Amino acid sequence: MLFWNVDTQIDFVYPRGKLYVQGAENLRPQWKELTRLAKENSIRVVNTADYHYANSAELDSSPDFVNTFPEHCMAGTRGADYIRETDPEDPVIFDWDKEYLITPGLFGREEHRNFVIRKDAFDVFTGNPMTEKILKYLNPDTVVVYGVTTNVCVDAAVKGLAKKVNNVYVIKDAIKELPNIPLPFETWEKKGVELITLEKLKELMTAN
Ligand SMILES: [Zn+2]
Repeated sequence: MLFWNVDTQIDFVYPRGKLYVQGAENLRPQWKELTRLAKENSIRVVNTADYHYANSAELDSSPDFVNTFPEHCMAGTRGADYIRETDPEDPVIFDWDKEYLITPGLFGREEHRNFVIRKDAFDVFTGNPMTEKILKYLNPDTVVVYGVTTNVCVDAAVKGLAKKVNNVYVIKDAIKELPNIPLPFETWEKKGVELITLEKLKELMTAN
């Protein structure tokens, strides 16, 4: 089992964030619990993060809030950091604008539990060329997805994961959407993605 934490960054979650997602701060207890579950059960976590520079295609001074957005999660700023509840412990960080020599040892279960994949696009699979390689090495049978936002970056991650992983679970009480963009639940269902509660996940984990 692999956990997949999508963009739980200060700019999205805190009401004072640059691209605050209404109500996201209410999910902090669930996110804290997921982080705890991962640690307690030695589950590896892929943490994705928006990480933009001023010339990003996603940013616009007159944003439409569908394809373009105001400045957020700018490289090196506090807003790009994870919130306390999901802040990855001792992660391996993969920037989207650098190349990395990948060795199998990097993904040894004892070496590292947390991975951070920075991206300059909604979709982590197109926003960082390392994503596919990392997923290939981690080779999970089941991925558990949570974070923000349901109808943008979580959606892209879920669709990409559904192509490559047998079981994709999305924790429905640990995701939050942006307004004015259609919700992806029907499409997910067609792809065999399962929406479950955090309680249900805990049941499944104790059953195994
Ligand atoms: Zn962004």
